[in-house]
Amino acid sequence: MNLKQFYEEIKDCQKCPLAKSRTQIVFGEGNPGAHIMFVGEAPGFHEDQYGRPFVGAAGKLLTELLQSIGLSREDVFIANVLKCRPPDNRNPAPEEIEACLPHLRKQIELINPKVVCTLGNFATQVLLGKKVGITKVRGQHFQVGNFFIVPALHPAAALHQGGMTQALREDFQNLKKFLDLNLEPEPQPEQMGLL
Ligand code: URA
Repeated sequence: MNLKQFYEEIKDCQKCPLAKSRTQIVFGEGNPGAHIMFVGEAPGFHEDQYGRPFVGAAGKLLTELLQSIGLSREDVFIANVLKCRPPDNRNPAPEEIEACLPHLRKQIELINPKVVCTLGNFATQVLLGKKVGITKVRGQHFQVGNFFIVPALHPAAALHQGGMTQALREDFQNLKKFLDLNLEPEPQPEQMGLL
């Protein structure tokens, strides 16, 4: 199966109640063969309207941050943990995550990136499988299965707390340094089943 076929398979997903309130699913977009994926939390108002990830103010900042490290949105793949917008942008509920996480896992399997940059607490905790605070783990990298997770602050959080934009820029500079190292994930067959 390729990514397009997978989109066709889940575009009418009814696995959780968000199917009733969404305009459309926000599958994610970018290079299906990307070496690096970015994973946010969930679509917001604009994303739900356009069916595309990170198109609001946080998206504008993400595009600029990518450019600052020599990447464009077409080079990478951008997705979210939840594919549908929670009403009023509330936090995702545990049953929504449980229903939706297999979709993200399948995307990661099909894209097979070397690095997944998790944006913010939520994506970081879901993909690391641990309740860790983003301010503690940003700037570090973790091998999970056959790829690395490099957590960064969430662009929307940085926009809301003015002083954090500079910290987020630093996260992207650190990410570039990590990408430039071109590390290969260690083969870990016993972990492959996790994702
Ligand atoms: N915030 C997210 O986490 N994802 C989006 O797609 C937009 C804003």
